[in-house]
Amino acid sequence: MLSAEIVSIGTELLLGQITDTDAPFISRRLSALGIAVYHRTTVGDNRERALATVLQALSRADVVILIGGLGPTMDDLTRDIVADATASPLVRDPALVAHLTQWFAVKNYAITDVILRQADVPTGAIPLPNANGTAPGLFLEKENKIVIALPGPPNELEPMFDAEVLPLLTTRTGTESAVIQSRTVRVVGMGESDAEALIADLMNDANPTVAPYAKLAEVHLRVTSRAATALEADALNAERAAIIRERLGDVVYGEDDTTLENAVVALLKSRRETVAVAESCTGGMLAGRITNVSGSSEVFGVGLVTYANDAKITLLQIPRAVIGGVGAVSPEVAKAMASRVRELSGATYGLSTTGVAGPGGGSDAKPVGLVHIGLSTPTETISVERYFPGGRADVRYRATQAALDLLRRELLKTGMAERV
Ligand code: ATP
Ligand code: MG
Repeated sequence: MLSAEIVSIGTELLLGQITDTDAPFISRRLSALGIAVYHRTTVGDNRERALATVLQALSRADVVILIGGLGPTMDDLTRDIVADATASPLVRDPALVAHLTQWFAVKNYAITDVILRQADVPTGAIPLPNANGTAPGLFLEKENKIVIALPGPPNELEPMFDAEVLPLLTTRTGTESAVIQSRTVRVVGMGESDAEALIADLMNDANPTVAPYAKLAEVHLRVTSRAATALEADALNAERAAIIRERLGDVVYGEDDTTLENAVVALLKSRRETVAVAESCTGGMLAGRITNVSGSSEVFGVGLVTYANDAKITLLQIPRAVIGGVGAVSPEVAKAMASRVRELSGATYGLSTTGVAGPGGGSDAKPVGLVHIGLSTPTETISVERYFPGGRADVRYRATQAALDLLRRELLKTGMAERV
C-alpha cells in the first residue's frame, strides 16, 4: 500500500490567517484511493525550513504532496524546493512560456520575468494544467518517490487534483487500488477508557482499525477497513462492529449517524409507546432533542418546562411543602415531576430533569453539576442522581443524554420479551 504525506506551505497558515482546507480535501481523496496518509505538516514560506520538511516527508512516504507557494512572487518557493529536494534543476519549459504569454496577452497584461518563473519546471517533472489560474502544478517521479506540487487556492487545487493528479495516482496504485470505509459504533453510559479496555486487542489490528473518540457524554468507536471494493470494506466493518457490540453490550445504542434521540424514538415506535417530559434544569432541551427526530409526533405529545418552583407547584401539583422541605433539586421532586407529567399526558413514560446547571446556585450539599433524573413507567417511578462535570451548557446537555439513556435502558429491559 502506498503512503503519502501532505505538506502545506504558507506563513498565512501558521499565523492562523487562513485555514487549511486543501490538506483535508486531499486526505479524503487519498483515503478513497487507498493511499495511507501518516503525516500532514504545515511549514511557513521559508526556503530552508520548507526544504527540511519536504526532505523528511520524502524519507518516510512514497508520495509527497506540497500545497501552495506555486505562484510567481518571491515568497512562492515551492518549485525551487521541489528542485532542491529531488536534485532536479529547474528548466524553463517553452510550452509553458507560450501558454503564459498567450494567457497574459488575452487579459492584456504585461508579461514579466517574475511571471515567467511559473514556466520553470524541475527536470523530469510533468507540469499539470491549471484550468482556473496561471500557476501549473507539478508531478515528478524519481527514484520510486512521487512529488506533487499544487497551487494553494482551493478553486485551482481541487479541480487540478481531480482532473490531473487522480488519474496519475490511480495508475500507480494498480490492482491493489483499495478503498477505505468507516463505520462508527456509538456508546453511551460507558467512559472511553472502560470501552477501550474491552476492545484493546481489536485496537492493535491494522485492518480493520478501531479508534475511540470521546465526545460530549458519549464515546464513538470508529471502525475503518481497507479492501479492494467498498462492498468488501463494508462487510469487514460490519463484522468488526458486531464483535464490538457483543463485547460492549447495551451501552452501544447505534451506529453512524444514529443519535441517542433517534434510537429512543425508534424504540418507542417499535413498542407503540409514548413519552412525556417535565424539565427544570434542561429548560426544554430534552423535548427539543426528541422533537428533532422526524416522526417523533408518534411517540411524543407533551413536554412541560417547569423551571420555577411555582411552575412545579401549579402546573405539576407538586406539594409546596415537598419543594420547601427537600428542595427542587431532589429525588422526590424528580420522581414527582416524572409521574405527574405521565399522568397528565397519558403517556406510557414520564421523564424529568431537575438539577444545578451552574455556574451559580451550587452549595455544599447540592453542588453545580448535580442532576436528578426521574423516570415513571406503568409499574414504578425511579430517580437517578448524577454529578456532571463541565460548564452550564455541558451539564444541561449531559442531563438530556442521561435522561434519554435512562429511558432507552428501560425500553430495552422490558422490551426483550417482545423483541424475540
Ligand atoms: P497564487 O498563485 O495564488 O499565489 P500559490 O500556489 O502561490 O497561489 P499561496 O500563495 O501559498 O498559493 O496561497 C495563495 C492563496 O491560496 C492563499 O492566500 C489562500 O487563500 C489560498 N490557500 C493557500 N494554501 C491554502 C490551503 N492549504 N488551504 C486553503 N487555502 C489555501
Ligand atoms: Mg502565492
